[in-house]
Amino acid sequence: MREKKIIQTSLIAIVMNLLLVAFKMGIGLIANSLSIILDAVNNLSDALSSIITIGGTTLSKKTADKEHPYGHGRYEYIAALIVAFIILYAGIQSVIETIKLWLHPSQPKYSWWSVLIVTVAIFVKIFLGNYVQQVGIQLDSPSLKNSGQDAKNDSLLSVATLMSALSSLWLHFEIDKYVSVVIALFILKSGYDILNETLSRILGERISSSLTSSVIEAAKHVPGVCGVYDLFINDYGPNRWIGSLHVEVEDTTSASRIDQLSRKVMRQVYIETGVTLSAVGIYARNSHSEEVNEMRTGISKYCLQLGFVKQVHGFLVDQENKRIRFDIVVPFGIKSLNQKQMDLKEWIKKEYPGYAIDLTIDPDTTD
Ligand SMILES: [Zn+2]
Repeated sequence: MREKKIIQTSLIAIVMNLLLVAFKMGIGLIANSLSIILDAVNNLSDALSSIITIGGTTLSKKTADKEHPYGHGRYEYIAALIVAFIILYAGIQSVIETIKLWLHPSQPKYSWWSVLIVTVAIFVKIFLGNYVQQVGIQLDSPSLKNSGQDAKNDSLLSVATLMSALSSLWLHFEIDKYVSVVIALFILKSGYDILNETLSRILGERISSSLTSSVIEAAKHVPGVCGVYDLFINDYGPNRWIGSLHVEVEDTTSASRIDQLSRKVMRQVYIETGVTLSAVGIYARNSHSEEVNEMRTGISKYCLQLGFVKQVHGFLVDQENKRIRFDIVVPFGIKSLNQKQMDLKEWIKKEYPGYAIDLTIDPDTTD
């Protein structure tokens, strides 16, 4: 239902934009006004990006297969990349045309007809923008919300072309070449912005902290789980996540109980957040040992006040073999980490003589 409505609204926007393009292109050529022609180009790039977005969304729904076991969700990013290149190309062409106009100035010849059509186009664009944005809010669709806002921003460019026509007709003062510069740069910038955002998504961005905290909450609520750590989430397209995490359980928990518990964690996380967990790792926690509790508190406290440790977890002491093992989460870009790690181990050895230390450094991948 939702997908259908999104596509339907996008189709309305595409048809309206193409009509605007046809009218503006005609008027722009008749009036010999580059600013109106570029305004039409800008609307054309909007229509094209909606078409490609629909195509990308449709392709990305294809189910997983042998060659692409993680599904086809990233088609949406490829679609966005194509949109970015088309808009960049349109922007570069617009800049070239604007430079030509500055080198060989030509007088536009506006008529009141052109003023009327440009005015109607402005209202159509605002109305369309509001409609698309409203549907976007109703369906919680970021792409519709964005394109609605985009349409409203574009109407400002059309207002500038209207000013150019009015100024020419009333004051006999030509501002066409200035307005053309503004619109050409605007098209170039929107292409650049989409390219930038899409490349960042393809590279793999930090997952939003609202998603990671709901995954952690969902897992924590499963009975028997003492703590949730080391969450990794990969993004295989919008709203398609595959990840893994560690849960901490009491060291007395039996294997069959752990089996049950990890299945429950996977199910609960999927139901509440849509994230598929490919694995649930286990950390054991020493139960009923005052001595270990004291060690945990002391070492955690010391680590956290060092300034470069974000979290201490997976703390387990093997009292029989005299081993302490734990993980620390360290943010990216910490300098001379090896030295810091050695200093930390030195301190622990002094505090708790006779213990071997098994320290793992975890990257700070999620909040
Ligand atoms: Zn860890």
